[in-house]
Amino acid sequence: MRTESKDRLEQVLGTRILSWQAVSGGDIARAYLLETAEDRLFCKFMSGNAGLSMLRAEKAGLDHIRTTGTVKAPKVFFCQELVDEACLGMEFIASKSPSADEMRLLGEQLACMHQNTDSAFGYTSDNYIGSLPQSNKQHSSWLSFYVNERLMPQFKLALSRNRLQHAEVPEVSELMEKLRPYLQREQPGLLHGDLWSGNYLISSAGEPYLIDPAVYFGDPAVDLAMSRLFGGFGPEFYEGYASQGTVFPNEHERTDIYQLYYLLVHLNLFGRSYYVSVKNILRKYFPS
Ligand code: ADP
Repeated sequence: MRTESKDRLEQVLGTRILSWQAVSGGDIARAYLLETAEDRLFCKFMSGNAGLSMLRAEKAGLDHIRTTGTVKAPKVFFCQELVDEACLGMEFIASKSPSADEMRLLGEQLACMHQNTDSAFGYTSDNYIGSLPQSNKQHSSWLSFYVNERLMPQFKLALSRNRLQHAEVPEVSELMEKLRPYLQREQPGLLHGDLWSGNYLISSAGEPYLIDPAVYFGDPAVDLAMSRLFGGFGPEFYEGYASQGTVFPNEHERTDIYQLYYLLVHLNLFGRSYYVSVKNILRKYFPS
């Protein structure tokens, strides 16, 4: 950590930083575990124009999840500009490998979190998916939200980055027509929004935590579809989820439609290795 940032951070915390060590694993921010006489803090640093905005969005998501009283999320201490970079300081969660029971608990708690609802699909502020902006403009229809705020922005980005050709991208009207039978969700649920296995932690006390959220109100099956995309959750997680009585008719019919969004994000961020997976889903719903 840079000396100027450390000095400034000590002013913000009102106490000396006794030690710090880099935490690996993040692909967007630089992260450190800091120790003061009173606390252990996890601090994420980001530079550039979007840095503060990304960290503020993360803070908003963590705060929202925490206040549901369902799955835990680290407590945020501050989020602000320090010298020439932005910093988000939160509770450090010492973590361990999950047991089957802890994964079941994560599933149960996530199902409870998904029961938090709102009057519209979307969110009161925009956020980010990875480093890409994610529009949360509110819609009364889930179909309209998912097509206009999720799929279309990623299709447009893929065209501008030459990852897809015009002929490969369906029109809005075609998306609405073909996806209508699958996207009939009536009640918005609070989603983590980026639920891959790197975005939960099991604390050393055995308590599940969600980190790095991209929250909005949508179809809870989106989080389940993302959890299945790269795996790492295990059967107990899904058993725990189902034990809360939340039933999604035909959930599996929507899995690839929801995975399409995340695959498009990966195509846009990381390139052509995701092209075949995107194409396979597009061919299924939009055969040419
Ligand atoms: P990025 O946004 O750059 O992907 P992450 O938020 O995923 O960064 O965090 C990077 C690493 O730090 C991951 O290995 C993650 O497990 C760990 N981590 C994230 N938040 C905490 C926390 N509050 N306490 C302890 N470790 C954390």
